[in-house]
Amino acid sequence: MTEQQKTYTLQTNGSFLEQKKNQLLVAVYDNNYKAAEQIYYDILKYTEANSEFNENTEKLLNQIQTIIKKFKPALKNCTPKFKGYHNRLKTLILDTIKQSSGSIPHVDFRTWEIKIGLDNCRKDLLFKTAMTFQLSCGCSNFCRRCNEWALPKVRSHFSYKAILKILNHMEQQQNDGISLYGASDPLDWTEDKKTISDILSYLKKRPLEYSILTKVPKGKERLLEKLLKMNSNLSVSITSKNKARIKKIERELGNPISKQHDLDELLIPAGLDEDFVSIKPSITDGYGTEITPDGAFIIIPSFTSALYPFGHKKIRVTSETNFFPVKKTGRNALLVDYFKPLEGYGLNKNRYHLDRLLDVQIESIILDNGSDELTPPGMRSLKEYLSIFEEKPRLQRKKMTPVVLKHLKKQFLSKTAFKNLSNKNKGFYLKKIHTHLNLCEKAGCLMSKLSAVSFFLGSISTYVQKNPIKIKMMRFLLKDEIKNGFDTDTTLVAHRPPENLLTEPDIDSFDIFRCYVFCLLNNSNDGAILKFIKTHPSVYDPAADIFVHRSPF
Ligand code: SF4
Repeated sequence: MTEQQKTYTLQTNGSFLEQKKNQLLVAVYDNNYKAAEQIYYDILKYTEANSEFNENTEKLLNQIQTIIKKFKPALKNCTPKFKGYHNRLKTLILDTIKQSSGSIPHVDFRTWEIKIGLDNCRKDLLFKTAMTFQLSCGCSNFCRRCNEWALPKVRSHFSYKAILKILNHMEQQQNDGISLYGASDPLDWTEDKKTISDILSYLKKRPLEYSILTKVPKGKERLLEKLLKMNSNLSVSITSKNKARIKKIERELGNPISKQHDLDELLIPAGLDEDFVSIKPSITDGYGTEITPDGAFIIIPSFTSALYPFGHKKIRVTSETNFFPVKKTGRNALLVDYFKPLEGYGLNKNRYHLDRLLDVQIESIILDNGSDELTPPGMRSLKEYLSIFEEKPRLQRKKMTPVVLKHLKKQFLSKTAFKNLSNKNKGFYLKKIHTHLNLCEKAGCLMSKLSAVSFFLGSISTYVQKNPIKIKMMRFLLKDEIKNGFDTDTTLVAHRPPENLLTEPDIDSFDIFRCYVFCLLNNSNDGAILKFIKTHPSVYDPAADIFVHRSPF
């Protein structure tokens, strides 16, 4: 572990309301209406004491209200007080909507800058890694399945000047492209007579690429036409609500409009259709930061579930943040193996890999049941990753050795001879060759598999001890998998050394891994697993892109 790795980390603890939302879910999963009532009371008291909601507070309150609606039958035994709490909270939220959508403020750059309170270095890293720039807070569309849980009605906008300033900062930090939406519709943005078309006209003259996705709020059809005439880089997200309107505009213009989500199977039941009992794919397709009128956040994709109804973990950027994940969007984000330590920038602006997984990554490992439905095409699941250590892929790799070595030679030595490479690149080149050859050998391949499994189980074992509530949630979310396939197997593997089972050619390593995960969810101190983790201490080696045995020195 380097000095930098020891220093850099990301604090990912959930906010008070996020924790309460999780406690409330555990109470309803357990049919414990008394606990639910007490938690709801705590939520109400907190909300009354902090009645100036920020965007995320209100989103969480909306999620809590949706939970109450979904689990109404489980709460039928609550005392009448519970109904009173619910009505009071509903009124508080409605009052806030009325107040904040009455006169819509424009947030200027200085106000926003003071609010986020970052020094220049952190601001630079924020702009460099920004992938989403949400121009407004709130949205005039009311989409049931809004995975962003956008607040109903527009509440605030960035000012035009603030927008240009932020775009200029991004450009200075060589950020190459930005999405201009988030939990808002870009066609809602306005200041005096200016609309999104003024922002896009400005961007036309700049090197920064942009994209916009819109549902075309009612009354914005002419603005859409204007944007299309400008050849803006926009797509229209289609729902049953706007389909006919968009078709009409398309006919009038005589040109097809770029569309997204025009297929039923793409509609992941998120937002108000979230059931809080199932695990669905992530809807977030990027790692990076998000800038909103309310602040700045680091976004890490996750499965969409009761744990993360947004399909991602949102970590507020503060004056304490000292690690900014490298921005990866679209195809590049799909190529990120979510189960490996993240690469990002430290405060000296150099790139490093963290030495451990973030909690949200460990949660994804626990929830990843290996089914194709959870993994979008192009993304690698943990099941696929573990399969690279099986015998057939090993032999295929061995066969491919001449091609792999040729490729590495081209990558490192196409412009210079080995002796002229920097020491760092010489090391990289040799390490990559060594890693490949090692993975072609039976013993080396097996060792790498044991190191990877030990790393994952070690991460889960530590996590389980610190997160009792989230573990209860995950045990509930996984109850069918645990019941249907693993009850017997879990007994079979408990107290047996994982080495024995993971080296059996006829046993699927992923299935065995899942059994050990369930053992840990029941008991983080399972002796056989802890012994295995201790016998195979491992680290992630980013240069070789593989988990390796950690030497004691
Ligand atoms: S338009 Fe987008 S941001 Fe607005 S409610 Fe619909 S899905 Fe959410």
